[in-house]
Amino acid sequence: MTDIVCSRCQTLSRLRRHGLRWCEACETYLVIDAGTGRWVSFADREQRRRAAEEDRAIARSVELVDEHLPEAQRLVPEGWAARRHQNDGARCHVAIDAPADVNATSYLSPPDGKSGWYVRVHNRTTGIDFPLYTDGGARAASFDTIEAAVAAAVEALRVESAEARPR
Ligand SMILES: [Zn+2]
Repeated sequence: MTDIVCSRCQTLSRLRRHGLRWCEACETYLVIDAGTGRWVSFADREQRRRAAEEDRAIARSVELVDEHLPEAQRLVPEGWAARRHQNDGARCHVAIDAPADVNATSYLSPPDGKSGWYVRVHNRTTGIDFPLYTDGGARAASFDTIEAAVAAAVEALRVESAEARPR
């Protein structure tokens, strides 16, 4: 039988508790992490599962942005720009920049299986960052198509620009 070694402290597990492997040093049960085949605590396994899930979501967001960016670039008005935006270790977005006189950008997050596209507006002049809400403001607005998301983003940026203009 292969040795069961705790991945945290490298101690060989010799005991079972309630039918499960036990690490005496860490005083935790050891369960196998399917992704790596290592023996970890329940908490570690859950954390690894979430991290793996987030990695998949990030990869999926990159695919969706690559797939829809050309369409977004076609949909934005003359003088506007649509580009790819991704911070290290975060999900990928389609960024929409208003023309130069408006210091604001909108970020479209791709569907994650639970909802459609979400739209955030970041106004660098005021430092205000907010998601678009459904009428009534009960929840963030979700757009089924990139076309609807781009239209909402452009509209929101136009509102920001109108408010920014001196009267
Ligand atoms: Zn241990």
